[in-house]
Amino acid sequence: MTSTPRVGVLSLQGDVREHLVALEASGARTSMVRTREDLAEVDALVIPGGESTTMSKLALLFDLMLPLREAVAAGMPMYGSCAGLIMLANRIEDGRPDQETIGGIDITVRRNAFGRQVDSFEIPITIEAIGPQPFDGVFIRAPWVEQVGPGVQVLARIEQGPRAGTIVAVQHEGLLATSFHPEITGDHRVHQFFVESVRQRA
Ligand code: GLN
Repeated sequence: MTSTPRVGVLSLQGDVREHLVALEASGARTSMVRTREDLAEVDALVIPGGESTTMSKLALLFDLMLPLREAVAAGMPMYGSCAGLIMLANRIEDGRPDQETIGGIDITVRRNAFGRQVDSFEIPITIEAIGPQPFDGVFIRAPWVEQVGPGVQVLARIEQGPRAGTIVAVQHEGLLATSFHPEITGDHRVHQFFVESVRQRA
C-alpha cells in the first residue's frame, strides 16, 4: 500500500456521502463498496450510519455478508458509526429477530438505546486517542455498548448526566466503532485517527 490508503464506504444504505467527504479530508482515497469485487479493491472499510436492519437485509440480499465477514477475519480495518457500530458488533439487543451483523467486535450493543428519534442529542465527548479537545458527539437514535469482552478497548464514555459511564466508542484490534456520527460534524479527527491506523497496519 502507498501512504495514501484506499478506504471504501459500504454503500448499501446510510450516510455514505458524508463519510466519503470526511475520509478524503483525512488523506484517504475513497470508493463506494457495493459488491465483493469492490471490497477486494480497498485496504479498509467504513460502515456508515443509517438503519442497521436495512443494511443487514441488503448485505444478505447482495451476497456481501460472507465477504464482509471474511474481510474482518483477514484483518481488514473497519470503522462503523452508529448503525455501523451495530453491524460490527458480535451481539445485539433489541435487534430484529432476523437481523444479522458482520461482527468482529466482541461487544453487545443495544439498538435505539437512548430513545426515539426525538431524543437525538449532541454532547461533548472526550476521546483521548484523538486528543484533549472534546469532540462534538451527535447521537441519532443511537445504540450504546452494553457489554465489552476482553481485548476490546473502550475509547469513550458519556461523561455527564443520567447516562454517565455509558460506553460510546470502542476499538478491537483494527476495528473501530462509535455510537455517534463524526461524519456530520466537520471535525475529521475520528476519521484521521482511523486512516492513520490503516496506514500503520499496512
Ligand atoms: N437506529 C439505527 C439502527 O438501529 C441507527 C441510527 C443511526 O445510524 N443514526 O440501525
